[in-house]
Amino acid sequence: MRAQKKKKYYYLQLQTLQEIKGFESKPSLLMHVCCGVCASYVALYLSEYFNLTLYYNNDNIYPEEEYNRRYQELVRLIDEYNSSYKTDIRIIRTEYDGINYQKRLEPLAEEPEKGKRCLLCYTLRMKQAMQYASDNNFDYFTTVMTISRQKDSEVLNKVGERLALLFPKVKYFYSDFKKDNGLLKTAQFSNKYDLYRQQYCGCYYSYNDYLLRKERKNEQ
Ligand code: SF4
Repeated sequence: MRAQKKKKYYYLQLQTLQEIKGFESKPSLLMHVCCGVCASYVALYLSEYFNLTLYYNNDNIYPEEEYNRRYQELVRLIDEYNSSYKTDIRIIRTEYDGINYQKRLEPLAEEPEKGKRCLLCYTLRMKQAMQYASDNNFDYFTTVMTISRQKDSEVLNKVGERLALLFPKVKYFYSDFKKDNGLLKTAQFSNKYDLYRQQYCGCYYSYNDYLLRKERKNEQ
């Protein structure tokens, strides 16, 4: 039943892309993007259908150097695409505000990864991005995060669906980018462009979990 539900998002993705093929010109899509690896296959795939803009607003990432590093890798990748594949993908980056973001997550500090803290984290970033899409008259909005092995596409699509009620001018683009070998294609692009692969999701808590894992491994 759950597997069936998950397929629903992939079918909705394909259905929208099929509809777009009949449009006279490409509609605009603002996609929230968390890093170059996650964007690698998805951005190229979607650029065939949309005028694509990537929105990098990831105040969850700790520390700031890591935020900058992931952003720089994204810029490097998209510059390569725009020159090699003649795409015209744009990137927008927001001013980093990690301190205030962490304060928002703090009450859920004890939550495990994929729990309530992560739900809040997806919602905050997707809401900010969708607000931008609405204010700037984008036709569609989505997040790249359904490509991530660590993230549940059903949870993300439900967040998107709820946010769409707040921003009725923008259509939410349902997705499950893991389908159709999305992870394999992502790995191939990441290897081809030698992209930096982070070892933790992003926030202070996931960073500490990563340090603990590393410490335990070293002790073995
Ligand atoms: S683990 Fe990832 S999704 Fe969850 S709160 Fe931290 S940065 Fe956000």
